[in-house]
Amino acid sequence: PPVLWLKAVERSYKQGEAALDILKGAEFAVWPGESVALIAPSGTGKSTLLHIAGLLEAPDAGEVYVSGVATSGMADSDRTRIRRTEIGFVYQFHHLLPEFTALENVMLPQMIRGLTKKEAKTRAGELLGYLGLAERLNHRPAELSGGEQQRVAIARAVANAPRLLMADEPTGNLDPKTADHVFSALTQLVRASRLAAVVATHNMELAARMDRRVTIRDGLVVEL
Ligand code: ADP
Ligand code: ADP
Repeated sequence: PPVLWLKAVERSYKQGEAALDILKGAEFAVWPGESVALIAPSGTGKSTLLHIAGLLEAPDAGEVYVSGVATSGMADSDRTRIRRTEIGFVYQFHHLLPEFTALENVMLPQMIRGLTKKEAKTRAGELLGYLGLAERLNHRPAELSGGEQQRVAIARAVANAPRLLMADEPTGNLDPKTADHVFSALTQLVRASRLAAVVATHNMELAARMDRRVTIRDGLVVEL
């Protein structure tokens, strides 16, 4: 099955008396190992789509399947478990814990999931090394550059080996050269681990390097 399948998803927001229809029966499937860029102007519903696909928000109608499993009828606790085990999130701002080192930031989600400190440390070290941060393991976020911070955030997002990585403008806060490096690191990691990825971006050059590009038009997801 697809890692992610949105079927006839609808979502509207109340704006005073009026209803603002953002998604009007959107269909969107992402297959294992596939990377998809989501390119759309602000206000068209990118964040709404990512939040619904990431099980952070429920659609008004329609269904979200994760690895073939329908999520709408689930208990919140089951949905949270799926989100924590199958989906990794990266945002425009890294949200790393400032008092912890890079290594500890990547160890934490694994320890919350029940891995031993030793197991978590081994995987965190490998991931950070893979992302070019072998010399930065014991630095705190404030001691890292913007690009390094974002690479740590990517390592943290995939620490528990999710099947799907969702990224909302992951390079939006970086200068073009750094954005390029971080994006390369992300796509390499995605390919190497056969991870599916949905990345919202305004950067067409970076989007061109992904498998597929989609946009949101009239409340639907359409291929570009
Ligand atoms: P994008 O990420 O593409 O900028 P969003 O999904 O954040 O778009 O928002 C789409 C539209 O829905 C915007 O016009 C936004 O103002 C509106 N919107 C988003 N969230 C809410 C909310 N909680 N209540 C009311 N309107 C909202
Ligand atoms: P936690 O492990 O802190 O309880 P959750 O399971 O609530 O985290 O959320 C998983 C991921 O989703 C985290 O990366 C968190 O930052 C993010 N997240 C949670 N709620 C929201 C939200 N309303 N909007 C955006 N991201 C969110």
